[in-house]
Amino acid sequence: MTTEQSPALDNLLTESRSFPPSPEFAAAANATADWYTEADADREAFWAKQAERLHWDTTWTQVVDWSDAPFAKWFVGGKLNVAYNCVDRHVEAGHGDQTAIHWVGEPGDTRDITYAQLKDDVSKAANALTSLGVTAGDRVAIQLQMIPEAIVAMLACARIGALHNVVFGGFSPSALRQRVDDAEAKVVVTSDGQYRRGKAAPMKANVDEALEGAASVEKLIVVRRTGSDLEGDVPWVEGRDVWWDELVEAQSADHEPEAFDSEHPLYILYTSGTTGKPKGILHTSGGYLTQAAYTHNAVFDHKPGEDVYWCTADIGWVTGHSYIVYGPLANRATQVVYEGTPNTPHEGRHWEIIQNYKVSIYYTAPTLIRTFMKWGAEIPAGYDLSSLRLLGSVGEPINPEAWMWFREHIGSGNCPIVDTWWQTETGAIMISPLPGVTHAKPGSAQQPLPGISAKVVDDAGTPVGNGGGGYLVLDKPWPAMLRGIWGDDQRFKDTYWSRFSDQGYYFAGDGAKYDNDGDIWLLGRVDDVMNVSGHRISTTEVESALVSHPTVAEAAVVGASDATTGQGIVAFVILRGDAAQAGDEAIQDLRNHVAKEIGPIAKPRQIMVVPELPKTRSGKIMRRLLRDVAENREVGDVTTLADSTVMDQISKGLSSGS
Ligand code: ATP
Ligand code: MG
Repeated sequence: MTTEQSPALDNLLTESRSFPPSPEFAAAANATADWYTEADADREAFWAKQAERLHWDTTWTQVVDWSDAPFAKWFVGGKLNVAYNCVDRHVEAGHGDQTAIHWVGEPGDTRDITYAQLKDDVSKAANALTSLGVTAGDRVAIQLQMIPEAIVAMLACARIGALHNVVFGGFSPSALRQRVDDAEAKVVVTSDGQYRRGKAAPMKANVDEALEGAASVEKLIVVRRTGSDLEGDVPWVEGRDVWWDELVEAQSADHEPEAFDSEHPLYILYTSGTTGKPKGILHTSGGYLTQAAYTHNAVFDHKPGEDVYWCTADIGWVTGHSYIVYGPLANRATQVVYEGTPNTPHEGRHWEIIQNYKVSIYYTAPTLIRTFMKWGAEIPAGYDLSSLRLLGSVGEPINPEAWMWFREHIGSGNCPIVDTWWQTETGAIMISPLPGVTHAKPGSAQQPLPGISAKVVDDAGTPVGNGGGGYLVLDKPWPAMLRGIWGDDQRFKDTYWSRFSDQGYYFAGDGAKYDNDGDIWLLGRVDDVMNVSGHRISTTEVESALVSHPTVAEAAVVGASDATTGQGIVAFVILRGDAAQAGDEAIQDLRNHVAKEIGPIAKPRQIMVVPELPKTRSGKIMRRLLRDVAENREVGDVTTLADSTVMDQISKGLSSGS
């Protein structure tokens, strides 16, 4: 027995590579190093300056009111219209002809939408919602694939002060119903069908099933997307259902945007449910838009009228809200929106789009980068990617090997990469390198942005030193912070504010560490941390060690109860093409590889080769389901999986094979 106190989280992996920005990039960058000093000297003045990026109908009188913590108010007394800020003001400033959206449909059809057209579309849709009786404060649920109408519908809600509640297009009827009921949505927006991997699949049919007997829903608006490509008739409920085109086209393109209070609610969005039951996160207007616009400008170094920006997220995820809709449009971006999957009709689809539209900023997720690695570097090598000048990653810790591959094979070895840490709850990016300033390190999100304060603390809430691991907390309020969980203040306090209530810290639920330079590394969910013989080991570091082996495409590890060590590490791996049939020797080799990379304590007890991993819509691995498999339990709630058949594929593979 040892009496010394064990650390909150062990620090196993070290990284010595560092990439300074090129002098040219640094010289032209939006953000500069003195933003850190400026924000440190006077946080409120710094945020007040960021809020001036927006048009306010009435100026605020107080930057932040934290007297009713943890319920924050930002830009108190200010009034603005979020949609006006994202659309109209650019048209009024003479940029009506600039393309806002280069939309690419999966079958190959395209639409280019200018800011002037977007203004008309949003105005008509706002009039349409009003004609159905939607007023400020009402909730509108939106279940749509990545088509322009999704963005238009969100902005139309914002324009009239209604809250949108976007539900991922792939979610089941029961998942949609849960979110419609919880938010008591009055109107739902969907489409007839969606293109998925080259085929038209019904969408409205699922929504009909979801809405059977839904008490709050008065109208269902249906966008025509697949039309006659869809087999069979689109079911119709007389009196409830209306076609989007018939309803919206009949409206006037004149709509006077009303100025709403800075704290007027903007939307509800349910979290991924990676670790538990989804929470209805509430965001409001002025602070949220300020931080979305500021971060989109600083972190992506976005130059309006010059850059072509592409965020590959789905609109059903917070990244789609802040970095497809609100941040980029507030900053007058020209952006690509792509409807389909990355391998339809071929595995070079993204690179082809980047080549065609000369995309300069590309923001995606580690899960996709690892998939591209699996498909092979020769695929992107066949396209001209020279327009790219900045790459971004979000959603999970990015393994150093994936980071290096991204830099080398997509970023020609010279694009800055921004690894952005944030959550549905934070509303916008919180921890990230600043391109042009930070010397980037593969795998690390590095530093809180200017104006943001974050710390890694131990069990008692005391900051750990360099080289130490612990819990990530946010110790000061920030403009885009959630204002609560919809309808459940107690859950809001319990979930985020009770763990370090003495200090008043927001507990993010993630493990993290400082390296020897004081840079922050995210280490995955605290719920997923493994305890092996008293060592607290993060899933991230073991997974990164596995992925650094040439035969491994993807890896997920969990701690399964173990009679001798408390927990044992069980790894699930997807192997690359030719290694897919790994024998005992190859498995042994992998176990030794982990031991060599990060130490014998992290050597997996067991490694299982699987065809797929269970993931949420944002590509996050749901380790709790794998823990169920590793401990031979019945598998828990799978409703927020992107593909609900994955768990069957995994258990089938395991019972027949290894
Ligand atoms: P739930 O809270 O319901 O389990 P979720 O946390 O998966 O859902 P999101 O808000 O989409 O839903 O995800 C936020 C989480 O994603 C963060 O807490 C963190 O664990 C992870 N994450 C996001 N970006 C990064 C990043 N750059 N590095 C490491 N982890 C990240
Ligand atoms: Mg979460």
